[in-house]
Amino acid sequence: MIAITDIPNWLLLTIAAIIILAVLLIFFWFNKMNKELKDILQKSDELNNAIETEKLKFKHQLDLIFDSIKDGVLIVDENGIILHANVTVKKWFNFPESIAGKNILNILTTPFLDTFTKLLRSENPDAETDIEFRNPTNCNLHIERSVIKQESGGIYGIVFIVRDQTRLMTLEKTRQEFVANVSHELRTPLTLIKGYVETLLDGAKDEPQTSVRFLETIKKHSDRLNFLIDDLLTISTLESGEVKLNFQTHKLREIVNDVINDLKVRAEENNTIIHNQLDDTIDAFVDPERIKQVFYNLIDNAIKYGKNSGNVWIECQKNESVLKVGVKDDGPGIPPEARDRIFERFYRIDKARSREQGGTGLGLSIVKHIVQAHSGKAWVESQFGKGSIFYFTIPTTKKI
Ligand code: ADP
Repeated sequence: MIAITDIPNWLLLTIAAIIILAVLLIFFWFNKMNKELKDILQKSDELNNAIETEKLKFKHQLDLIFDSIKDGVLIVDENGIILHANVTVKKWFNFPESIAGKNILNILTTPFLDTFTKLLRSENPDAETDIEFRNPTNCNLHIERSVIKQESGGIYGIVFIVRDQTRLMTLEKTRQEFVANVSHELRTPLTLIKGYVETLLDGAKDEPQTSVRFLETIKKHSDRLNFLIDDLLTISTLESGEVKLNFQTHKLREIVNDVINDLKVRAEENNTIIHNQLDDTIDAFVDPERIKQVFYNLIDNAIKYGKNSGNVWIECQKNESVLKVGVKDDGPGIPPEARDRIFERFYRIDKARSREQGGTGLGLSIVKHIVQAHSGKAWVESQFGKGSIFYFTIPTTKKI
């Protein structure tokens, strides 16, 4: 056996040096690893923070997108826990500001509670329903439900799209009223025509005087049908918004003179004197045929509803680039409650008088539409018992 004393000093020193070197190496390596580990941990923290910031940014962007949608968007999980609700939903359902994580069935109130309970439990993945509520916004809501499926087949959530369709319902109501009015307006002259034809066939045709009288009445009612259909076609063209106006600079006085000429016989029958007070220098930038119809309807009304042996004045004021035109009469005037309504389709103050005069109830509605197509507006001012002035505005020059 070799004793330590037998090992030469130089060998011992070498071994000792190797051991010290190894220890030092291990120490430095450990230090280095420690530092690298710390760096990795720091980087991982930074990465985590960056991911959190990106997540918040993404959520914020998603909120902005959902909030910019006019419809209400509500997303819940299959148990009703709220995952997202946009501002519209919060406003309509009166939700508190922070609602994520709450169950909709705990925060909804009637009438929404019943509706959402049914929708949430519905077996139909695309169930939808309408709900009308009077307070606080007085609107008709349409709620559509769709299920968000996970790739695994499970349910991630349920999306409710809530749409305000009050305007749509109002339009639908107006359309139904219009169809009912048109049917009624068409039926009245048709029934009369049929009645007179049947009476003629039953024997009245053999009495020459009676048959002439009946045939004249039939002609009067068929004329009325014709006027009605013409006016309906005009209204439908104007309301379609597809009407192309043939704008040109035109002397307003000339248009009015044409109308006065067309209405000469009617005015003479009523002994009405029409005063065209428009200056020859007044130019308007209009579709002359359409504006002629506006003057025709207003002057015709002034003759029809004005007094016998009365007067009609056509006047105009120029204001910067707009002309304010007035058609004035000294007839009975218009009661205050009817002034806004007479521009509505088929509204008449005295139905029998309007029909007697061959009116369709659409004249002022046509006036309003034509004036609006010229970017103007039409209205009436009247002193009950003392006459009315129908005003409308039109441009003098082309808008740049
Ligand atoms: P109508 O075919 O019945 O004349 P309008 O739309 O032209 O339809 O007019 C609607 C209603 O407004 C008329 O029925 C009439 O009652 C009233 N009206 C219009 N113009 C005058 C007027 N100058 N004076 C009094 N009432 C008028």
